Amino acid sequence: MKFGTKAVHAGQVPDPATGALMMPIYQNATFAQSRPGAVQDYSYGRVGNPTRAALESNLAALENARHAIAFASGVAAADAILRRLQPGDRVLASMDLYGGNRRLLKTMHEPVGIQVEFVDMTDLPTVDRALAQSVTMIWIETPTNPLLRVLDIEALSSLARACSTMVVVDSTFATPFLQRPLDLGADLVLHSTTKYLGGHSDVIGGVVSTDRDDWAEHLRYQITCTGAVPGPMDCFLLLRGIKTLHLRMRQHCAGAWRIACWLQGHPSVSAVYYPGLPENRDHDTATRQMRDYGGMLAFEVADISALDFNLRLLRFAESLGGVESLISHPATMSHASLPGSERAILGITDGLLRLSVGVEDVEDLIEDLARLLAPLGATAGSRPA
Ligand SMILES: *Cc1c(COP(=O)(O)O)cnc(C)c1O
Repeated sequence: MKFGTKAVHAGQVPDPATGALMMPIYQNATFAQSRPGAVQDYSYGRVGNPTRAALESNLAALENARHAIAFASGVAAADAILRRLQPGDRVLASMDLYGGNRRLLKTMHEPVGIQVEFVDMTDLPTVDRALAQSVTMIWIETPTNPLLRVLDIEALSSLARACSTMVVVDSTFATPFLQRPLDLGADLVLHSTTKYLGGHSDVIGGVVSTDRDDWAEHLRYQITCTGAVPGPMDCFLLLRGIKTLHLRMRQHCAGAWRIACWLQGHPSVSAVYYPGLPENRDHDTATRQMRDYGGMLAFEVADISALDFNLRLLRFAESLGGVESLISHPATMSHASLPGSERAILGITDGLLRLSVGVEDVEDLIEDLARLLAPLGATAGSRPA
């Protein structure tokens, strides 16, 4: 089955009792058992729920994975993975990690003995050197936030495999429509389903997908023990959102491409970060690894203090991946918890803005952006050659 067909149908058949076409929301804490000691699919809502099972089977199909385990949020999914580590284990993580995952590693797992080292994962020789001392897990995110660096999953996975190190890929920005890390050698794939998979900014969720039976069993056991389960209504919303994932992603990508090109020609914009642009430093890796270049981009202006964020369409907000376009300021939002010196190393300047391009008509978005940038008109021509 091809991707769009799986998005609409995988894991879902009409309800045998009623013929209901859409997966019912099994809003149940408990399920009647036939007799003491009966073995049945559902007994208690934390352990399993039919709406959640349908979602997991759909997500596994999209990722070409044997297993998918749904969580109450993206960070709950990440935490579940990290909890399997033992004191003394070493994790190599990408330098420009999602802020919430970085905080999780630094404040929840490092204090109990996990060693965390942040490295530039675009620099393969450095990664190879770091792998020389035993590393349990490589944790990467691609494309990255907010500068949209694209990491070579296949190359990193093969370096890791040579050292018996496992690879976790946070693929939230790409979705399974644009890239499938398991097919490229990763062990676990993580998504915040809050973003593109849900797609409508109305649900918080996460998922881990894997072909490894040992990890699937561990994660299922762990979610039973710790309870970070998504509710049935949230699972329903995700199933509903995913049905249009392929359509939305095509539109997100087309819009982002048009906006990236427009921004590049704008006199007040000094840099545009979008892997779809041929001159982008990661364009070739992205072309090899991804079906298209995604709906996220970032750009830089000299000074944001003059800008008027009271726009018609673009909302100034955290998060991404919804049908509506959002603009954010990484230095004071997603990356505010990083010391200024670290932001500078990563290239996150005070003039950097991030766009999550929605599925509105792109001409309207460009009009809004023109309005946003208009106050900089006086400095037109400041763009470096
Ligand atoms: C949002 C996000 C997360 C965390 O997901 P939540 O659903 O907010 O817990 C993890 N990784 C990336 C790349 C994200 O964008």
